Amino acid sequence: MISPETLLVLSHPVVVAIMGGAIVLTRYYDPARPRYLLYIGLAYLAYSAGVALQKIGLPPSSVAFVLISGLLYLTSIVLVTHGIVSLSGSRYPLWFPLLMVAGMLAARTYYFYIEPNAFARFLALHTAVTLAMLHGAWYARSLLTKRAPKKVMYGAFLFLALSIVPRIWLALGNPSPGHVLNMELYWALTQASIYVFSLVFGIALILTIMQRRVTEHRIRSETDPLTGLRNRRGFLDLASRQLHRTRHYALIIGDIDHFKKVNDTYGHRVGDIVLTQAAKIIDDSIRSGDISGRIGGEEFAVFLPDTSLDDAYHIAERLRHNIEHFVFQTGSQDVRCTISLGVGEYDSATPLSEALWEADAQLYRAKHDGRNRVTPAETHMDTAVARVTSHVVSGPGV
Ligand code: GH3
Ligand code: MG
Ligand code: MG
Repeated sequence: MISPETLLVLSHPVVVAIMGGAIVLTRYYDPARPRYLLYIGLAYLAYSAGVALQKIGLPPSSVAFVLISGLLYLTSIVLVTHGIVSLSGSRYPLWFPLLMVAGMLAARTYYFYIEPNAFARFLALHTAVTLAMLHGAWYARSLLTKRAPKKVMYGAFLFLALSIVPRIWLALGNPSPGHVLNMELYWALTQASIYVFSLVFGIALILTIMQRRVTEHRIRSETDPLTGLRNRRGFLDLASRQLHRTRHYALIIGDIDHFKKVNDTYGHRVGDIVLTQAAKIIDDSIRSGDISGRIGGEEFAVFLPDTSLDDAYHIAERLRHNIEHFVFQTGSQDVRCTISLGVGEYDSATPLSEALWEADAQLYRAKHDGRNRVTPAETHMDTAVARVTSHVVSGPGV
């Protein structure tokens, strides 16, 4: 019959095992199948099996107990270290922890048979474990530059690696000349540290996974799958966020000329290839701080922070020139096309929707004036905004 004390003591490995199982399962719901989840989940399970064995399994004096539970602890340390290094994106050099384990076994054998010393054996084990974890922490240090949950995971891992020193110090109490460690106190401190670690680390891990999934979902909902550019939503979102950091901005709107004819003559598949290549030309023709997007079928927009009308005009002209002189290779046919563009400059108080409307009016004029051209707003910003108002009243192009 299991005593109430044992039941209470077992709650620790059971909680850790539930978290480990949940982490391993999470991996199978994740299309990316990240390896670090497997390593970390298995580390939890190995550790919990080690503690459970120690509490109820094998008789503490047996060699099997020492070997099996020792092996489970070591495996869990190597696995969790492997997990945190893979999470950081670095490659984990497995030879180092293996060397630590080999060195530790050699030292323990020496201090068992040749010069028996229980404290030296204890130190050999813990030095090897600490060095293996610190080595992993060094490889995973890029996690410190990541978002909060990864920083917390890194901090918890480092805490566990470094907590060995205060744990030994506390368990030594009033050190006697023979360095007799209060093992019961030492194991209680160790398990309490690991318990806190496993909860903090596990919760931060779940937050890390959630954060990644939310980010992936947001990127997918803001990206045009055909061209890889931002879609209308992605373009407006990012440009609106930039708006607050600028004093003024310029906007270019481009629309491929007679694109319906491309579709009608060569088919929709060729039309799609032309759109994809045109998107690439647009992205290659702008500067790194500019934001491009496909805001409609064959309509593109570029947001240019802190850019004058004159500079935006030159960028739009370069873009128009690059499209006009590009031979779109679509497999069966070489296709050529042109683009018409409208350009405007606005102060950052002008909402993007208003600016889009105004630049669209310039695009309409470019189409009207014969296509394959750039039409800038010909008046100063204030009068440009006044003109927008008149468009709203009378409709575009009137
Ligand atoms: P304009 O010079 O006045 O702009 O003439 P246009 O033919 O380009 O303009 P219109 O708006 O009449 O036609 C746009 C065409 O773009 C019609 C539509 O079928 C096509 N289109 C929109 N989205 C896609 C797409 O994703 N793939 C392909 N292949 N065609 C598309
Ligand atoms: Mg068109
Ligand atoms: Mg169009």
